[in-house]
Amino acid sequence: MRITLLAGGVGGARFLRGLRAAAPQAQITVIGNTGDDINLFGLHVCPDLDTVMYTLGGGISEEQGWGRADESYTVQSELTAYGAGPDWFTLGDRDFATHIVRTSMLSAGLPLSAVTGKLCERWRPGVTLLPMTDDDVQTHVLIDDDAGTRTVHFQEWWVRLHAKVPARAFIAAGAERSTPAPGVLQAIADADFILLPPSNPVVSIGVILAVPGIAEAVAARTVVGVSPVIGGAPVRGMADACLAAIGVRSTAAAVAAHYGPGLLNGWLVDTADAAATGAAELAGIAVRARPLYMTDIDAAAEIAAAAISLAQELAHD
Ligand code: GDP
Ligand code: CA
Repeated sequence: MRITLLAGGVGGARFLRGLRAAAPQAQITVIGNTGDDINLFGLHVCPDLDTVMYTLGGGISEEQGWGRADESYTVQSELTAYGAGPDWFTLGDRDFATHIVRTSMLSAGLPLSAVTGKLCERWRPGVTLLPMTDDDVQTHVLIDDDAGTRTVHFQEWWVRLHAKVPARAFIAAGAERSTPAPGVLQAIADADFILLPPSNPVVSIGVILAVPGIAEAVAARTVVGVSPVIGGAPVRGMADACLAAIGVRSTAAAVAAHYGPGLLNGWLVDTADAAATGAAELAGIAVRARPLYMTDIDAAAEIAAAAISLAQELAHD
């Protein structure tokens, strides 16, 4: 069985850990979001790719859901002593090593897809991890504040401003000129089906779909998604602030309607949202209700198994 996913950070990684347990024989390819990438201290940081790599490789901080376990912060405190910013983005010593290795390989001329493959030789995530593109695509957020209307990098809005300043729009800067990384379109075409884990529909999956060619390729396949919204709110984080900016309500049904029947064939919602199974706005999408909290790997594996069986059912229709 071949399964290809579009994934962001924590929601994507936790689902993938369950998927790997539910389908140990499957060939899994993950197309990761790089719109969150940011250059800090001259280093290329890939928060979403690293969250997937560390989670599946056993190096993640379980409490945070991102960053390394057993982390220390000597380098960051030395940078702060020099007054070198930004100080709002946490980078631990172990994590710094990843960014140093990545940046040195990029500086030597390797594309991000090849660099990610090299980093995964250490972490052995059990999936093929591909960045959505090797090109520079950055998610920017249009906000109004004391400085007037301006755009800030997604990380500044999300981490420094805690998504509290209302976003007027998200811009996947550079996306229109980008091309999918090597292997991305092939992995979509070759898969038995595509899964959308419960990642942020706007700034994770939405940005991947903004790379020209990916949305069309995905729409041509059987696609099953898992709702990141339960009972009217995202399970973790501030995805509601992202949905509000694009005029989508934070409900499981509204997120599926936003993807639309042109993209999505099946949609898993939590039992709290069972009413969505009969929603008129979801005509053309097969909706199933089941518990969707990924409280541990077993719970995530059961969700993944449900997504696989719905996809197999729909692929044969
Ligand atoms: P990020 O890049 O780290 O923000 O991670 P993603 O984009 O992959 O996923 C973020 C989304 O995961 C959030 O919108 C959460 O609502 C969702 N999420 C986190 N934990 C769970 C869970 O246990 N169940 C479900 N259904 N969604 C979850
Ligand atoms: Ca992210």
